[in-house]
Amino acid sequence: MSREVLDEHMIAGLHVVALERGGHHHERSHPHVAAQVGTIAELLDAQYDGTLAVGELLKRGDFGVGTVDGLAGELIVLDGEAFLADVDGHVELVPDEVTTPFSVVCPWRSERTVEVSGEREEVLQAVRELGNQQPVLAIRIEGRFSHVSLRSVQRQVKPYQPLAVAVGQQHEFEELEVDGTIVGFSFPLALGGVEVPGEHLHFLSRSHERGGHVLDFSLRRGSAAVSFVDDLHVEVPAGFTFGKPADAQLSEIRTVEGGR
Ligand SMILES: [Zn+2]
Repeated sequence: MSREVLDEHMIAGLHVVALERGGHHHERSHPHVAAQVGTIAELLDAQYDGTLAVGELLKRGDFGVGTVDGLAGELIVLDGEAFLADVDGHVELVPDEVTTPFSVVCPWRSERTVEVSGEREEVLQAVRELGNQQPVLAIRIEGRFSHVSLRSVQRQVKPYQPLAVAVGQQHEFEELEVDGTIVGFSFPLALGGVEVPGEHLHFLSRSHERGGHVLDFSLRRGSAAVSFVDDLHVEVPAGFTFGKPADAQLSEIRTVEGGR
């Protein structure tokens, strides 16, 4: 039953297992395994149909980010619950049967925490220091934010347009003096065709009413914590090759999925 494993890679100490679509069999007991559904390359190519139910996603991790079928908003998985921020940043719980075309989750286990405040780059620098050269980090930043700049996307209708076009219709908004949690990951460039390289962060307000994909923020007071990921299980299409993305693709990913 393990014939689904197509390939194995070591990327800077990270063990990456590629699984043929539908062939998942994660070791749920291993605390450092992250599970990736879909690839950023597929998302750029307008493949927005969900391939895994959110109820199944939650069995693979209680913490993560992604989107749902039809690119209907920004998915935030926190403390075992899945939330969706719609195009206006309004948040609802996601029913288990809703599917996702692109998500990454892991079991959250706080390895290191630091009290921190400041602008995005200062806070992320503190996170990188906590990470101590680990290639993949799950990142949790919580507290009082003086501002969080967010975006979300409109549910797409078929025929789907490429992500660059879909994100062109994104809605940007700002939350001021808000308590909440930033949930996300940092991935190396070597995973660029699979993941969003660098930090990919989503926000959920403490009230569970507001959220989105983080473009920028300023943390008034709070903490940052990391959970290490040394094993990444990725469901990829047959023939998919890992590697550094082409510059053109990379700039497209930065445009549609990056911060500022
Ligand atoms: Zn995002």
